[in-house]
Amino acid sequence: MSLLEKFAPLGKMRHELLEYGSLPFGVVTERVISPTVGIVHGRETILAGSNNYLGLTFEPSCIEAAKAALDAEGTGTTGSRMANGTYSTHHALEEELAEFFDRRHALVFTTGFLATMGMVSTLAGRDDVLLIDADSHASIYDGCRLSGAEIIRFRHNDPADLEKRLRRLGERSANTLVVAEGLYSMLGDQPPLEEIVDVKDRYGACLLLDEAHSMGVFGAHGRGLAEALDLEDRVEFVVGTFSKSLGSVGGFCVSSLPELDLIRMAARSYIFTASPAPSVVASTREALKLIATRPELRERLWRNANQLYGGLQESGFRVGPQPSPVVAVFVDQTELAIDWWHRLLDNGVYVNLVIPPATPSTSCLLRCSMSAAHTTEQVERIVSSFANLRSENRLAGSAG
Ligand code: PMP
Repeated sequence: MSLLEKFAPLGKMRHELLEYGSLPFGVVTERVISPTVGIVHGRETILAGSNNYLGLTFEPSCIEAAKAALDAEGTGTTGSRMANGTYSTHHALEEELAEFFDRRHALVFTTGFLATMGMVSTLAGRDDVLLIDADSHASIYDGCRLSGAEIIRFRHNDPADLEKRLRRLGERSANTLVVAEGLYSMLGDQPPLEEIVDVKDRYGACLLLDEAHSMGVFGAHGRGLAEALDLEDRVEFVVGTFSKSLGSVGGFCVSSLPELDLIRMAARSYIFTASPAPSVVASTREALKLIATRPELRERLWRNANQLYGGLQESGFRVGPQPSPVVAVFVDQTELAIDWWHRLLDNGVYVNLVIPPATPSTSCLLRCSMSAAHTTEQVERIVSSFANLRSENRLAGSAG
């Protein structure tokens, strides 16, 4: 096979997808109206797949802070954190993150992907073991590849399987980094964190918890699942992103272990990329304050999440295992999933279409994510648009 021939299957897949009309991936939002509404294909559309959990993307104080930073510090830093790209505001954000999470150290990265990938690949080296949940995000898998460590997967959300594998490692369990997520982004399921923490403590391993989807969503202060379950003191490293509840872009790691500060001089995804723009840092700092001080955002998010989960269940859809701001609808046939995705969009509802192997099972997913900014009426519209799919089923066959 020549260098470029391997892309032919992708070209074929794109061609087949185009037969349904427009491409379901990389949809263009022609105009953004609010955290929950945009113009897509010329039509006003409810955004029900944006991960904008707290709806902070249009928060006036965040926008003001970003504008002020643009005026004061310019459009970009034009350099990496290790060279000229560390401004006092990057340090301020790190201090505020450490304080927010009640940890001694915090590191800010340019994206969440770079934070997770960088931490995983730097914490574990050639003589170490990475023991990761099988349904881990791509950034965790890529970090594993770069680490040079031995990579072992444990069955998704299965502490007994984790224990079995740690036991087999013998003394090497002390050289092991266990990796899990606070909320799994495809099905919206939570890990049995207490059991996972018990097991890794018993075997002397360390835990890195990716709270990308759970920060702002769980916990009295919005610090994530570890806070909600009162386990923060037993989770060595927490990574996360600014691109979901915080409404901007960027990533971080927090820990009370002094080694985190040394990782500044070792993580390649921190050292060899430009630092976040000042406007991004400023809006993130403002959003971080709001996460802690406006618990009503979390309450509204959960009200919407429960309404959507219950509504879709009542309409007969097979949804993820527990109510969550991520609500996934299983559809067994790919053709039907694509058809339904288009029809939802024609009806003014955007959700994420996820096709295997990007899904954790062989089914396709119509993945919705809720926001505190959705109104009750918008959630009703999403549910009724799904219900209409069933009543006017154009393609034969059963839905999952
Ligand atoms: N970790 C997890 C679990 C994620 O789901 C994502 C993004 N969806 C990331 C990391 C990467 O975050 P970002 O998109 O902010 O780079």
